[in-house]
Amino acid sequence: MRRLEGKNALITGATSGIGYAIAARFSQEGANVAINYRQDDEKVEDVLSTIRNICLSVKGFGCKDLTVQGDVSKEDDVVRMFHEVIKEWGRLDIMVNNAGIQKSSVSHETTMENFDKVIAVNLRGAYVCAREAIKHFLSREGGGVILNNSSVHEIIPKPNYLSYAISKGGMGNLTRTLALEYADRGIRVNAVGPGAIITPINKAWTDDPNRRAEVERHIPMGRSGTPEEIAAVFAFLASDDASYITGQTIYACGGLTLYPDFRKDWSSAGG
Ligand code: NAD
Repeated sequence: MRRLEGKNALITGATSGIGYAIAARFSQEGANVAINYRQDDEKVEDVLSTIRNICLSVKGFGCKDLTVQGDVSKEDDVVRMFHEVIKEWGRLDIMVNNAGIQKSSVSHETTMENFDKVIAVNLRGAYVCAREAIKHFLSREGGGVILNNSSVHEIIPKPNYLSYAISKGGMGNLTRTLALEYADRGIRVNAVGPGAIITPINKAWTDDPNRRAEVERHIPMGRSGTPEEIAAVFAFLASDDASYITGQTIYACGGLTLYPDFRKDWSSAGG
């Protein structure tokens, strides 16, 4: 499918995991992709070469890509990033807020430095990127699309990861509030809420068969998800197939949001 033909998309944190899968899927769907990365030492060249191969095989001559360095937790970096993309392409159509981090600690011992860092990347960074995207969308005809990479922890508590849970909970209302505020100006804002996906953020359990089995035991569908399965939902929401959808979080989580413990009728046994 080439549902994103000719669209220009900026994806934050796109050198690994889900962000990378989104960049690959969007280019398969015909989009031009601007790949944001945080540090100079990331695998930007590898990512670019894969994207270029996809572009060549799918689209042939005419594929465009771009890399833009920037730390989304720094407002100046985000503003510069937008200048770079719009200067190069003249226009942005799709903004994907994917960059995210998590830090583990019991809540009563979390340092403010770690707490602030997670909020700054996951929530404040997503807002600043959305703000710059909306300014641009309003400056020209045609509206635009903002997509947020949220989590099942938008609605499920996550003990020992309080800042992460707060950031994703906030992302839910970031999505809905911006969607409502700009719905009448052709701007759609949606989110995807992944469950347990095999990416570097989860290397603590993905690389350990016993821990992975323990995680997957709790997932109704009995397995973790792949970055490609999440990227497919982003591609749908970015495309005109989702033209009447705004302000929604679509959970792609193998059933994790379905209160899995209720599969057995322990709450009303015999009643
Ligand atoms: P990942 O660690 O592979 O990717 C995170 C990306 O964000 C990396 O490329 C990293 O460099 C980038 N990043 C971090 N801080 C940044 C900053 N300040 N500025 C710019 N980029 C920055 O992990 P992932 O699983 O692909 O995570 C992507 C998103 O998916 C995150 O927002 C995460 O919360 C969300 N998510 C992941 C899962 C999962 O199970 N993997 C589940 C739910 C939600």
